[in-house]
Amino acid sequence: MKKLISILIPVFNEEGNVPAITEAIRTVFENIHFDYEIVFVNDGSADNSLAIIKEIAITQNNIFYISFSRNFGKDNALLAGFKYCKGDAIITIDADMQHPPEMIPGMLQLWEEGNDVVYTYRSDRNQHASNFNQFTSRMFYKVINNLSDVDLEDGIADYRLLDKSVVGVFNNLHEDRPFFRGLIKWVGFQQKGIPYMPKPRVTGETKYSAKALVRLALQGITSFSVKPLTIAIYLGLTFSLLSTLYIPYVLISLYKGYAISGWTSIIVTIAFFGGLQLMILGILGIYLGKLFMQSKQRPHFIIKETNLY
Ligand code: UDP
Ligand code: MG
Repeated sequence: MKKLISILIPVFNEEGNVPAITEAIRTVFENIHFDYEIVFVNDGSADNSLAIIKEIAITQNNIFYISFSRNFGKDNALLAGFKYCKGDAIITIDADMQHPPEMIPGMLQLWEEGNDVVYTYRSDRNQHASNFNQFTSRMFYKVINNLSDVDLEDGIADYRLLDKSVVGVFNNLHEDRPFFRGLIKWVGFQQKGIPYMPKPRVTGETKYSAKALVRLALQGITSFSVKPLTIAIYLGLTFSLLSTLYIPYVLISLYKGYAISGWTSIIVTIAFFGGLQLMILGILGIYLGKLFMQSKQRPHFIIKETNLY
């Protein structure tokens, strides 16, 4: 019997790309000895994406969709797909054709050779991204790797193959906001990375703004380590030591009788320590917020309609 491969595609306002990627994947599987299904997860698109997917699903019986009640984010879309894909392996791929579908046969071969995770990374800095995006993405990995306990490779993409045993692990996760780029490394298993050259988006625009990237970076750090909390201790310690240097100055000024001139330095010190304390409170707040969200045990996504059951 042929093995079944699930192609999992998160879709958020991709009406122009859905037919193209469906067709590209069909072409790829024409020449290899695997069965496949496509599971589209419509992450609250406001355009015609869902209608187009439904149309395709009528004519092909291996096309499935899950449609969320609103936008829940790409990671939650992937999580939903993991729960419902039936394949022996799952390949997650973006709808916008930036991840070349031609790489699928190579990924499948590596899987058959015994790799449980085949992930991809950009071989080249994304030449199509703006300088600002390149810079933010480089900073993103630098900061995450320095501040957390998992090592992420620069330029790692959400284009990857997962054996169903690995998918099983994700289906038993109870994290409030799963951060897949980190979790994939964290699960272990036998992993293999292959480089790829990203293509420009076929249609539409990227859904990730600079603001969203900063949010993603903060989430990546605070989901994977408590190091920032220890940073708070070191920062506090350093500045208390530094401030003791200030004492002789205060005493001498008092002795010489021009103590009133210290106004500027007092204001500077208050402002500085005020800022420092706020920053550390902010770090504590993020972790507290995570506990709060986690304690509510809300579902990761809400399915409005699907043709899966
Ligand atoms: N996506 C999603 N939900 C979101 C944002 C994005 O499902 O809230 C999907 C999007 O439709 C695409 C993939 O995630 O298939 C990657 O998004 P995009 O191409 O905008 O990201 P980039 O390639 O710029 O990192
Ligand atoms: Mg893209």
